[in-house]
Amino acid sequence: MTEIVSARDLKSDLTLEADLCVVGTGAGGAMVARQAAVAGLRVVALEEGPTLRTEMFTQREDEMIPLLFQEAGARATIDGAVTILQGRGLGGSTVHNTNLCKRAPDDVLARWPDGWRTRDLLPHYEAVERELNVKPIETRRINRNNALLKSAVEKLGWRGAVLSHNREGCVGSGFCELGCPVDGKQNALKVLLPAAQRAGARIVSDCRAEAILLEGGRAVGVRARATHATVTVQAPVCLAGSAIGSALLALRSHFPDEKNQIGRGLHLHPGVAVAGLFDDPVEGWIGIPQSYECTEHLSFDEESDARVWIVPGFAHPAGAASLLPGFGAAHKQRMRDYSKMAIFVAMLHDQSEGTVEASSDGRPLIRYELNSSDQRALLHGMQACTRLMFAAGARRVLLPFATPLELDAPSENLQHHYRPLDPLLTAVHPMGTMALGRVCDGEARVRGITHLWVADGSLFPSSIGGPPQLTIYAAARKVAAQIVDTLGHR
Ligand SMILES: Cc1cc2nc3c(=O)[nH]c(=O)nc-3n(C[C@H](O)[C@H](O)[C@H](O)COP(=O)(O)OP(=O)(O)OC[C@H]3O[C@@H](n4cnc5c(N)ncnc54)[C@H](O)[C@@H]3O)c2cc1C
Ligand code: SF4
Repeated sequence: MTEIVSARDLKSDLTLEADLCVVGTGAGGAMVARQAAVAGLRVVALEEGPTLRTEMFTQREDEMIPLLFQEAGARATIDGAVTILQGRGLGGSTVHNTNLCKRAPDDVLARWPDGWRTRDLLPHYEAVERELNVKPIETRRINRNNALLKSAVEKLGWRGAVLSHNREGCVGSGFCELGCPVDGKQNALKVLLPAAQRAGARIVSDCRAEAILLEGGRAVGVRARATHATVTVQAPVCLAGSAIGSALLALRSHFPDEKNQIGRGLHLHPGVAVAGLFDDPVEGWIGIPQSYECTEHLSFDEESDARVWIVPGFAHPAGAASLLPGFGAAHKQRMRDYSKMAIFVAMLHDQSEGTVEASSDGRPLIRYELNSSDQRALLHGMQACTRLMFAAGARRVLLPFATPLELDAPSENLQHHYRPLDPLLTAVHPMGTMALGRVCDGEARVRGITHLWVADGSLFPSSIGGPPQLTIYAAARKVAAQIVDTLGHR
């Protein structure tokens, strides 16, 4: 079986033998599956979500959000304060992401364990960038929402830049977060999984890993659940179910963890959306959604209160409605202004650490509270977005507090006492929970267990303050080399 198969229709239990079982097929999992298969290992990759194909991507929110996202798009922290968007299906979160590609800053990697500094990741970054065709976004493709941010940054004399991406053949439909209908994304689904398959990997979708099988301190396989059958894979294991999925599976598998470190150290890189109302149409849904960044307020100094990455954050209508504050008639009026609205998002390089726990029904319980320093930094970021909006020419600016705040001029001293849900926060970049140096050793092996590696966003010992996919692909490529070294070439 060298193909991608769905386990949905499997009627009887199945046991597969392999050299490596990879759990999860997102950025990390697809990279490990491909690299290990190309090196000659017999690989089985399990994916809890469905097989996804280009022709399925209708770009309709009502169809795509339940299909592509974990918990049908409703995943959140247990207090509801942070909505967490993550992918579920072949290709994981790379299927509906916005394709921004940025290396982790040297200042951040300098604090990571030995072996994970910029010089160690560099060859992997370079290889990933080549393979996924990463390049700067052409300036002619900057849409009005992004152009407004660019003009404001230039007017204020702040730091900003055009971003890089991994698109090829993009026609600018603008709805990247719902999957690409023209196959314009050079992602795990399009590039890595087919290559893994060509190299002989067996890829099984609709098959949820429920336990890692341990014997005498060694991982010997995975027990997974399809709709009507159990799938058992007998093999060493690499976890790549994402910062939430991998910790959940580790907890459900009762790994030895005397110091209760598994599931801790969750960074969400939470974002808050600030909306600006303009006299002319912005029509932010047209074209590439994000192409320009403002880094003026992104310091990697741990003491700094300026720790936000600012990017335009235009969303499709339901997404925009969920980001805009207020209820009833006032909310309806805001949505009437949708075409004349620009949105800038301040994403916090967070120091706060949350946790993932396993609930009795197998779902993750995610706890996360912003500490006081992060609360200050978030407010600082909102204030910066407000200044940018007015510099871009906004007539009014709307801040998503529980009691929405509308400004018609920049406020020099924005005051707000943070509470959960006030302001509304969304996270698309969860990191941590099985971190290097904490749960994993320097070779990304889970401490105390042999033949068990981690290769996804859960490895990160800190937030990286920016888009993480490139670093996850690069880290997974490095982990794959270590796995191949250990398990040997066939
Ligand atoms: C809306 C959105 C926009 C984004 N935009 C960008 C961007 O522009 N640039 C960027 O760098 N990053 C972006 N990201 C984030 C980026 O896509 C992720 O950080 C990255 O894909 C995470 O890689 P991963 O391997 O850790 O997990 P994922 O890619 O999420 O893959 C994990 C996979 O494991 C599967 N899985 C989990 N548990 C199990 C189990 N028990 N059994 C079987 N399978 C399991 C999941 O279904 C999923 O398919 C965005 C994310 C979102 C949601
Ligand atoms: S903007 Fe481009 S990459 Fe994104 S979904 Fe549309 S065509 Fe695909």
